[in-house]
Amino acid sequence: MSLNFGRPQLAIPGPSIIPDRVLNAMHRPSPNIYEGQLVDMVDTLYPDLCRVAKTSHKVAIYIANGHGVWEAALRNTLNPGEKVLILGTGRFPLTWGEMARNMGIKTEIINFGMQADASTQALQTALEADKGNEIKAVLVVQTDTASSVKNDIKALRAAMDATGHEALFMVDCIASLGCDEYHMDDWGADVTIAACQKGLMTPAGIGFVYFNDKANEARKGTMPGEYWDWKLRTEDDQFYRKFDGTAPTHHLYGLREALDILLEEEGLEACWKRHETLASAIWAALDVWGQKGVTSHNIEDNSKRSVAVSTVKTAPGDAKKIRQWCEHHAGLTLGIPLGFDGGDEDSHFRIGHMGHLNPPMVLGTLGTIETAMKALGIPHQEGALSAAAQIMAKHTS
Ligand SMILES: *Cc1c(COP(=O)(O)O)cnc(C)c1O
Repeated sequence: MSLNFGRPQLAIPGPSIIPDRVLNAMHRPSPNIYEGQLVDMVDTLYPDLCRVAKTSHKVAIYIANGHGVWEAALRNTLNPGEKVLILGTGRFPLTWGEMARNMGIKTEIINFGMQADASTQALQTALEADKGNEIKAVLVVQTDTASSVKNDIKALRAAMDATGHEALFMVDCIASLGCDEYHMDDWGADVTIAACQKGLMTPAGIGFVYFNDKANEARKGTMPGEYWDWKLRTEDDQFYRKFDGTAPTHHLYGLREALDILLEEEGLEACWKRHETLASAIWAALDVWGQKGVTSHNIEDNSKRSVAVSTVKTAPGDAKKIRQWCEHHAGLTLGIPLGFDGGDEDSHFRIGHMGHLNPPMVLGTLGTIETAMKALGIPHQEGALSAAAQIMAKHTS
């Protein structure tokens, strides 16, 4: 018998759950794209997007997913033949690097594997070895959505500064913006990229490139082409230039609502705290299950775990069975493994816990996973939900 009925729950690391209010804000007739309410509303998005990334610099909005803004960031700052250094944690920086290579950019990769964050020492050594300043940019992700590791952006910047190297520091915050603490200016990122469908709770389709003056200087030597050029999008007074054509009208209304929820109602700092608490509850449940079982954290050190996604290791084959049981019998969709190979593909699943999420949703997800383990005869210690509840109870008192 299947119990899959009622509202399905998505617990994948992007797209995330979209608040009904965001969906409702999008449900409207097409607006005038030349003047009036839409144009005025869009002006309010830029300062609020900067508040989310804690920057006083500029942000360009693209009709694109994360891959689109990866490309935009590269096109505005680099030329074919130039070199970038990739801090290869998990899977996502490597994919960004493949894109760079396809654009004729040379890549140097330090691969930290699927279970570690980027080492400041390795970064420092690579930059010190680059006597001719061949490396023009360092590419890193704050959260690697495949391994669920979190990189220490501030410490990596300090390691760059210690070498005096001039490379740009480009940080992919697609899975972490609006979830994990981030300070673009104080932590010294030159470029930050993000997209709307994860912590920002808006249907996939718009992406953001934040850039400071140093990155903007680098743009002057490149040929980003018209569509990807961030200058038009941030400096031209004509509204249609901000999107190089028709604005993504309904997405922008959705984003406005999401930013109101995030900044005006919950508050960014409270949102970071909520993510931390909910993530800690999930980790506590995983700790308990693992005491008598086969599930464990992919990232052992909890200070190096993302608060937006958790990658869970199981016995071979169990991860896939759990995912399939949850989806077919309970309407809960968990994340597939990414980046694991060598027969390890069916030994991991991911829990997305980013954005529009509260204790009933988290406990529902955990309870459903436990139900799947019971139904499938997968060994686990009892008491995981109680441990999760205790964490949440403690944080609200
Ligand atoms: C989701 C994600 C991407 C890719 O975004 P798409 O919208 O799927 O192109 C890139 N980097 C990170 C860290 C992500 O989490």
